[in-house]
Amino acid sequence: GDSESMDTQRRYPQVCSCEFFPPHSEDGLQKLLVTSAELDALRPAFRSVTYGAGGSTRERTFVTVTALGGLGIDAAPHLTCVGSTRAGIAEILEEYRVQGVRRIVALRGDVPSGMRDIGDFRYANELIEFIRASTGEHFHLEIAAYPEYHPQSSRPERDLDNFARKVQAGANSAITQYFYNADAYFHFIDEIEARGVDIPVVPGIMPITNFTQLARFSDACGTEIPRWMRRQLEAYGEDRDAIRAFGLDVVTALCERLLAAGAPGLHFYTMNQSGPTLEIASRLGLLQA
Ligand code: FAD
Repeated sequence: GDSESMDTQRRYPQVCSCEFFPPHSEDGLQKLLVTSAELDALRPAFRSVTYGAGGSTRERTFVTVTALGGLGIDAAPHLTCVGSTRAGIAEILEEYRVQGVRRIVALRGDVPSGMRDIGDFRYANELIEFIRASTGEHFHLEIAAYPEYHPQSSRPERDLDNFARKVQAGANSAITQYFYNADAYFHFIDEIEARGVDIPVVPGIMPITNFTQLARFSDACGTEIPRWMRRQLEAYGEDRDAIRAFGLDVVTALCERLLAAGAPGLHFYTMNQSGPTLEIASRLGLLQA
């Protein structure tokens, strides 16, 4: 009813954003722009475009961000620093500044196997410092957060301290790695608040469409798929409709819990598909009428 949707409006004044990866071809780019237009219903505050570690997608990320920007969309490139020089990063920042980009998702990235020279930056906090020192407050800087801890972190406290270091270096807000344990997020927020950090930390939301792919991906990035979910998803086997239906229920419930507890927004890992994100957002009452 009306009062319920009013209530939803009031309870969820949050900001959504969505993430894409840069397509390989011109055809792929046109498809992405269609997907992006479908996601207009979400009124995303910004749309981010990932960056291949070591700069492997430098050109494609730039082209995608520029294409979105040309449509008046607030597009935010991801930028990783591993393997880069200060001069190389400065050049990329200048290219984006000229294009009118005002937001960057600043990351360390993963050292590609075989890479000898890690370059001028060891950690993301050094990239943040460099961007602030060279471009002042021009860019709004987003950073990565890991409620279930970064896979390489030796101790939880160090990971949390390192997160706080990125904020001290000048980050404005954070996006989390995706997770399915809401309690991990709540604990993370308590821990960083105890460290005096008060920037918004927006949960990264990964819709579930393909279990095999999700399981592989989650192992690599340190996200736990809780046992009850894993068992159920395994039991569905090749039944993709059942996986999709279950995934929508579980992820919508997760988002509801996060928003009800005060999460400042939702960042959707769209995998360049609008369907799952729109369905979740619709169930949450987040879509424009
Ligand atoms: P950091 O914050 O530097 O942390 C990396 C590790 O080093 C952590 O274990 C941390 O505890 C430790 N550490 C940090 N600072 C210090 C310090 N000063 N001293 C000692 N230890 C320290 N990867 C891509 O390649 N391209 C992308 O587009 C991309 N987008 C992402 C978007 C989001 C929202 C997230 C969550 C991740 C993304 N990643 C991307 C993955 C990311 O690059 C990897 O997780 C990478 O391993 C860490 O990057 P970071 O910026 O979190 O690193």
